[in-house]
Amino acid sequence: MSALSWKPRRRGDVYCAPACGHGCTRKDYEAALFRAQRVADALGEGWKAEASENMGWHSKVRKAEVYICVPGSWGASQYVAGTEGRGILGTGRTARQAINVMVERLRMERSAAERILETVEAAVS
Ligand SMILES: [Zn+2]
Repeated sequence: MSALSWKPRRRGDVYCAPACGHGCTRKDYEAALFRAQRVADALGEGWKAEASENMGWHSKVRKAEVYICVPGSWGASQYVAGTEGRGILGTGRTARQAINVMVERLRMERSAAERILETVEAAVS
């Protein structure tokens, strides 16, 4: 059995991938991309708008490893900032606030890791 494709297909007003199967529309795709583009423009250079599909079209912006989910996407009521492959997220009423919260959490994680490393190094030296 082969996995269903996540490449969206267009049939009339429907724009939806076989793996989704929700019947997502081209109109929703365009609206999601439009919302993401407004956020990308506000954040400035290098931010790219994305619409990603899974039981509806969702708005996301991305710059290198950092992504931000736009409110209304995936049921989120706030902006959610994260980095690919890591579990530390930041949330906020604005995209900038979400980034700042995530950066603060990453700094706290780094400080905690440094304290643990010092303890380990002292124990094994
Ligand atoms: Zn779909």
